[in-house]
Amino acid sequence: MRDDSKPDAPEPTRQWPPMRSWTFRVIDAFDASPTMRRVVLTADDIDEFAYKPGQAIIMMVPLPEGGVGRRDYTIRGMDRAARTISVDFVLHGDTPAPTWARQAKPGDTIEAKGPRGGTVLRPNADWHLLTGDETCIPAIAHILEAMPVGTKAFAFIEVGDKSGEFTFETQADAAIRWVHRNGAPAGPSELMNGVARDFPLPTGKGHAYIIGETSNVRRQRHTLIARGLTRDQISSEGYWRPGRIGGHDHVDD
Ligand SMILES: Cc1cc2nc3c(=O)[nH]c(=O)nc-3n(C[C@H](O)[C@H](O)[C@H](O)COP(=O)(O)OP(=O)(O)OC[C@H]3O[C@@H](n4cnc5c(N)ncnc54)[C@H](O)[C@@H]3O)c2cc1C
Repeated sequence: MRDDSKPDAPEPTRQWPPMRSWTFRVIDAFDASPTMRRVVLTADDIDEFAYKPGQAIIMMVPLPEGGVGRRDYTIRGMDRAARTISVDFVLHGDTPAPTWARQAKPGDTIEAKGPRGGTVLRPNADWHLLTGDETCIPAIAHILEAMPVGTKAFAFIEVGDKSGEFTFETQADAAIRWVHRNGAPAGPSELMNGVARDFPLPTGKGHAYIIGETSNVRRQRHTLIARGLTRDQISSEGYWRPGRIGGHDHVDD
């Protein structure tokens, strides 16, 4: 056993609990919007699936060259009575994950691990700022749905145009604003940083959930820190970035 009282004891290494594996079976798949495909999944042991809104699973998606690649996808919702979870895939191109989602049909199976992720509701915050792009709609929507009545929330979501917008169900006192790229491609930009710069900070101790393209997330995090938020008031994670294949980026600097 490690003895921390000894001055020469080795530094502890960061240990994550092992993630559980699941075999999901497709129940249904349909377009949730012109740019988003929803896949509804079940598993024999789904009654044991425990997660917090905002968390994701790592799906083992078929690759064109054969084999599978790991892709992180948020749990958009769970219907315990129907024994299903749903996952929303942004149709951003002919890459492995959206290709799988477009072709998914009832009876198909896919392996996954999880759930994982720390972008989950901080119930003690006085107010909540959520920002992200299309890939973050499932997380933001699910966190908003889970908020207790009257929770003060502000969500800013970057989408291409009006066709990418959704209606959210929430009991929160939520102001939701869609930020249009107006023809610009998704990816690194100043758009959401402008939101972080101009957002009138409410009184009290809030929490910011900043997700999306990694460089956009980092810019917003630094802007909010410069405006006085402490590091522990910000949960930030890079969901994707140009050229990165699968995975995720820790943004905690
Ligand atoms: C915790 C977490 C939760 C996530 N939840 C969701 C979710 O619910 N729904 C969702 O759609 N995505 C989600 N993502 C993002 C998703 O995992 C990535 O977009 C992933 O790279 C998609 O895999 P792919 O096979 O399409 O592309 P990859 O093979 O991984 O990448 C191929 C190319 O596509 C580019 N690319 C990847 N994603 C995008 C994009 N969104 N827009 C433009 N170019 C892109 C890459 O930069 C790369 O150049 C999440 C990511 C994380 C870390």
